[in-house]
Amino acid sequence: MATDFDVIVIGAGPAGYVAAIRCAQLGFNVACIDNWLDEQGALSLGGTCLNVGCIPSKALLQSSELFEQASHSFSQHGIKLSSLELDLETMMARKNKIVSELTSGIGALLKANKVKVITGTAKLLADKKVEVVNGKDKNTFSAKNIIIASGSSSVELNAAPLTEDLIVDSTGALSFESVPSKVGVIGAGVIGLELGSVWRRLGSEVTVLEAQDVFLPMVDLKIARDAQRLYKKQGLDIKLNARLLQAQIKTVNKIKQVEVSYQDETGDHLCEFDKLIVAVGRKPNTDYIFDDEAELILDERGFIHVNDKCETSQPGVYAIGDVVRGPMLAHKGSEEGMMVAELIAGNHGVINYDLIPSVIYTHPEIAWVGKTEQQLKAAGESYKAGMFPFVASGRAKAHGDTSGMVKILSHSETDRILGVHIMGLNASELISQAVTAMALGASTEDIALTVFAHPTLSEAIHEAALAVDNRAIHIVQKKP
Ligand code: FAD
Ligand code: NAD
Repeated sequence: MATDFDVIVIGAGPAGYVAAIRCAQLGFNVACIDNWLDEQGALSLGGTCLNVGCIPSKALLQSSELFEQASHSFSQHGIKLSSLELDLETMMARKNKIVSELTSGIGALLKANKVKVITGTAKLLADKKVEVVNGKDKNTFSAKNIIIASGSSSVELNAAPLTEDLIVDSTGALSFESVPSKVGVIGAGVIGLELGSVWRRLGSEVTVLEAQDVFLPMVDLKIARDAQRLYKKQGLDIKLNARLLQAQIKTVNKIKQVEVSYQDETGDHLCEFDKLIVAVGRKPNTDYIFDDEAELILDERGFIHVNDKCETSQPGVYAIGDVVRGPMLAHKGSEEGMMVAELIAGNHGVINYDLIPSVIYTHPEIAWVGKTEQQLKAAGESYKAGMFPFVASGRAKAHGDTSGMVKILSHSETDRILGVHIMGLNASELISQAVTAMALGASTEDIALTVFAHPTLSEAIHEAALAVDNRAIHIVQKKP
């Protein structure tokens, strides 16, 4: 049967646009449909990641970190500033410029790869037909293969309904027009900690209310504990076991504030904030994405059900990125996009879901890949651990930033690396070395035998590998 395209991709986030480009590189006739409009009503490609996620948050994290360093640590280097002033408007304009350059860059890449970009909201119908609505226009296209990459949206709480500018989600928190005196954050997850850090560095008093009694349960236990202590020292007030009861707008002396009531083991509490950021997770965008006749299946958590190859229950229909199971991370979605493109072309395509790195871009950064010590213990795995603190690294000292450490876990008998956990400066960059080593099936002995440049932060990985067998050079280890 003749179709309009070989492949239709629904969604142009990091999962969808990567899938579209790779499919085009493989010689397919591809369309990519997206409905993300900027303030001027123009299509803005790149999805959550480029428009309101990874990129704008990292732009603000970078700017706010520089502001914090200028305020507190330049003097240690003998750099004196006679005055320091925050120009939030310029900071925000810089962030917006980065976003618009990158989103238009995606447009250029799609065009260069001859991907047809279609603006509108798509819905999958039966027989791999896709209906696209754009204002009053409605069109239907067909393809041999469909890739759904419709992404995710912030979870909202009934107890804290969003308002235009006082109770906001992560998107609102990326665009405050002035630095609020007091910021409340619901949820001490990745977004809460990153955006909480941005506003704390810029001068807000930040309180984070977390429902769970464990801080960062997915992170190595020691690193999570150290991080909690460091964040507290920085001034982030993180309250665990804090169950939100209600958030509502109150007007005090003609000024609107958010009044938040919550409960913990000591009783009920009430506090006021100038802004409240709700960061309690994200949910898959599946509300409008397919018609009943398309006969796709959702899993128990509302994600499109797929197998390891991202195949849905319908032949020729794939789903990738945040709309399917697995970590909601841009690089996970992009890799799924690459894999599905190869599979459609009849090539080999596979992802090792055990080796997807995670990063929390606070200061210090936290990054990890593979299993945590607590997971290995729970699974009854026999393992060895090697640790190296950055306080013993010459390069970290030269930076004036020695917080954190590298921890490597390997199998007791085979020495194969099972997990690497890093907290410290540039952990987001360092972790890729661990991912590469693990992807190649390396042992800690392989890393121990590798030459690392001196002085670098990477040497901490070398030393942690040596430490697994009690032979680190720059720390004193107990004899086994
Ligand atoms: P999305 O990026 O959500 O893109 C989906 C696209 O599909 C959107 O453009 C949407 O408009 C479009 N769409 C949806 N439905 C339809 C439809 N029916 N028709 C047409 N188009 C449709 N991840 C990281 O890895 N690193 C980070 O540092 C990081 N930081 C983040 C910071 C914040 C504040 C947030 C909110 C997220 C962050 N993430 C980060 C997560 C990351 O943004 C997501 O994992 C990633 O964007 C998911 O990619 P995706 O392509 O699956 O979906
Ligand atoms: P999250 O799942 O990381 O954290 C949400 C937190 O909110 C959890 O700790 C949860 O216990 C808590 N919570 C839930 N309901 C609550 C309530 N009623 N009261 C108090 N606390 C409550 O979710 P997030 O921080 O919103 O991030 C969403 C997704 O975006 C994540 O999956 C993450 O992977 C992705 N993301 C990644 C990065 C990164 O890679 N650096 C950055 C930002 C976002």
